[in-house]
Amino acid sequence: MTATLPTQLTGQMIIAGTPVTGTGHEVRAFDPAAGQPLEPVYRHGDTTDVDAAAAAAAEAFPAYRATTAEQRARFLESIAAHIESVAESLIARAVAESGLPTARITGEVGRTTGQLRLFAEVLREGSWNGARIDTAQPDRTPLPRPDIRQRFVPLGPVAVFSASNFPLAFSVAGGDTASALAAGCPVVVKGHDAHPGTSEIVARAVTSAVTESGLPAGVFSLLFGSGPGLGVALVTDPHIKAVGFTGSRSGGTALMAAAAARPEPIPVYAEMSSINPVFLLEGALATRGAELGKAFIGSLTMGSGQFCTNPGLIIAVDGPGLDAFVTAAGEAISAAPATPMLTPNIAGNYASGVEMLSGAAELVAHGQVGAIETCGQAALFSTDAQSFLGNEELQAEVFGSASLIVRCADTAQMHTVAAGVEGQLTATVHADTSDEAAAGELLPLLELKAGRILFNGWPTGVEVCHAMVHGGPFPATSDSRTTSVGARAIERFLRPVAYQNVPKSLLPSPVADDNPDRLWRRIDGRLTQD
Ligand code: NAP
Repeated sequence: MTATLPTQLTGQMIIAGTPVTGTGHEVRAFDPAAGQPLEPVYRHGDTTDVDAAAAAAAEAFPAYRATTAEQRARFLESIAAHIESVAESLIARAVAESGLPTARITGEVGRTTGQLRLFAEVLREGSWNGARIDTAQPDRTPLPRPDIRQRFVPLGPVAVFSASNFPLAFSVAGGDTASALAAGCPVVVKGHDAHPGTSEIVARAVTSAVTESGLPAGVFSLLFGSGPGLGVALVTDPHIKAVGFTGSRSGGTALMAAAAARPEPIPVYAEMSSINPVFLLEGALATRGAELGKAFIGSLTMGSGQFCTNPGLIIAVDGPGLDAFVTAAGEAISAAPATPMLTPNIAGNYASGVEMLSGAAELVAHGQVGAIETCGQAALFSTDAQSFLGNEELQAEVFGSASLIVRCADTAQMHTVAAGVEGQLTATVHADTSDEAAAGELLPLLELKAGRILFNGWPTGVEVCHAMVHGGPFPATSDSRTTSVGARAIERFLRPVAYQNVPKSLLPSPVADDNPDRLWRRIDGRLTQD
């Protein structure tokens, strides 16, 4: 890495390496902590910009997919290094645009660069190729078996929709972009209007890495524009072959519908809404009900509750242990300061969600009132199991520091509630050793509902690693078979191809006889590095 990036913001999009000023709607970022708009003005792009970015991505695809895994690994590392080279101005801008604390954003820079480096590691390790060889059996009767070999190939250009709540780790060079680029897919990002300056700085870092790595410029573009306008145009562009999205259920399902209605439908990997049920078992409540109540509010109010893994639902059997939990949680939430939310729109949605809960459940306690309008006041409600199961509204994600306690009459009713919740990113169980049998009965139910099941912790905080699943059945995501965080995220942008009796001289290296990269491959059903 050589170049130091300029950090003066221009308000421009970047289409295949070229800065482009949009001709559409004007947008300014907004500092939710100061209640002030931020310079410069960004202008939305239009369908001409979508066409240009998608066509450049398609043009870049043949050369980009032909790069070696090592070349792509170095490219991802170069993006990480370029991001680090502008970390100071990037952090300052992201803090101003999000209202999130400096420590949180600093951590997110590390998570973003760490994610890019994880995918570099994944590429070098090689099992993402999914190489399999079934050798020919010419003498098999009644029919001979042909030589069949399989590996994964990239899908093609991917459209990525940035999330508002992680301006770095789920944004321009976040997990969707990193995993798509690792797979060999060019990326066109639709930036989020909540953090255009952060997006521009990161896009320039990616663009510098594209140039430094000698890749075609169309490997990466950043566009700004409205979701229903430019966003849908991007998803329906014939050059785009898959979509990565993090945001609301309504946004995700709109993009799923647009992608499915194309003459050539494409997959949409949308991470949408989850209320992340937490089950408190009787032994745990009896020994540490109050302690759990306090810790729960810490998880609920972190980052103004703007996490897709926020604990929005507590489920437990009524009794003195649950009473102790509720009392401690009520006391902790009453002391919780109101902190700025990401955008006035998100603060408004949160206020409406709390109003809905106020009309449908009993208030336990509110947090403190905020000094400015963009602050979200934490809120805790409770209801009984029957009312919860009878009111669909109570399952809706209220994005922010609001949660609902469901009091169950007995364990059987707790299981009915577990079976009645929608698909979730996470399900949490607090259990002591005395709860082992009860937890064992609950676990199979939770496997049907959630992508990640955790014990004796809180769901906020998603480790980026090989075994992570940040996914789950609808509406948590649009496709429960995969994850948007962690090494397996690369699989979303790959598809298997089988090569039957292809001449040996034409076979791609992952399935060639000599195995030049010493990949682990499944040969005649057995894993081997031979
Ligand atoms: P969002 O409204 O879903 O927006 C995310 C992206 O999708 C934006 O680029 C948006 O474009 C686009 N979009 C939205 N609706 C669309 C539609 N009908 N057709 C095409 N594109 C569309 O999410 P947000 O702005 O980040 O936050 C709004 C709400 O989403 C929150 O209040 C919260 O409820 C939820 N949310 C959930 C999560 C989660 O992790 N589960 C994360 C963030 C937000 P525009 O620029 O035009 O809006």
